[in-house]
Amino acid sequence: MGSFMSRRFFVYTVISISLGLLMLTAAAGCDLTSPDEIEDGNDSVSVIATVTFETTPTPTLSPTPTISPTPTPSPTPVPTYVEATLKTVKWYNGFVDPRSVRATVVTDPDDYAVLVNKYYTLTSEYVPYDLVDVPYSKNQKLRQIAADAYLELYDACMEATGQGLYLVSGYRSFSTQRALFTRAINNRGVKFAVKRNAYQGRSEHQLGLALDLCPAGQTVYTDDFGSTTVGQWVNENCHRYGFIRRYTADFINETGYDDEAWHYRYVGEELATYLHENNMSLEAYYGRCQILPDDE
Ligand SMILES: [Zn+2]
Repeated sequence: MGSFMSRRFFVYTVISISLGLLMLTAAAGCDLTSPDEIEDGNDSVSVIATVTFETTPTPTLSPTPTISPTPTPSPTPVPTYVEATLKTVKWYNGFVDPRSVRATVVTDPDDYAVLVNKYYTLTSEYVPYDLVDVPYSKNQKLRQIAADAYLELYDACMEATGQGLYLVSGYRSFSTQRALFTRAINNRGVKFAVKRNAYQGRSEHQLGLALDLCPAGQTVYTDDFGSTTVGQWVNENCHRYGFIRRYTADFINETGYDDEAWHYRYVGEELATYLHENNMSLEAYYGRCQILPDDE
């Protein structure tokens, strides 16, 4: 009997445990189905909870980058001088070879009254910022202010003489000037070149403010421009429009160049009129006349 009771107890225990496990399994199954129901979307609260749970964490906003101050571009250092390429100073009949002198680099090349000659040079990089095409020219360019003044000069010349002008050469680049000077040295010799041709960097034509002129109808400039009706009128009246005749026989020793009847330079009306009325070269105005060998 004792063993029977024990067996009954055992069976009862087993059944109880089995039922318990069954209930636990059922309960577990019920829990497992819950997410499916939530995902049906019928329970808004649950959906919100689910959405909240599944939302990827808001990414931490990276801090707005501090705008670093625009770096001040360090200006390209402008050399103070262009050294001579010849070892000793060379003079030919009172004209110095520009290759034999150390030239000061001008610091204000955009100033339309700036002095550029054998002793005051532009850099190889300098190009005027406001070059424009010029009418009545051989496809030449000048700085805007000089081009405007040239048109006024042209109209006044036409009105006064019945003939216009022609701009043979205006702006010339550093490299063009180098080619011209080299060609002059090779073809005409150094004695001629140093009194008529500017070395690269030392030409007013690189300023876009110099004009080589001839009467309309011609296409080349000549020595006799100063004796023509048009040339005489320009010589006497150009200052009213801001131009000076730059190289004259009177100022050879000051400018370092021979007489050039065709070469004019824009400097502005005020300065041009002052130089005209005082019969003064641009070099003398700035107190920078060429130093002759005898003065050294
Ligand atoms: Zn010229």
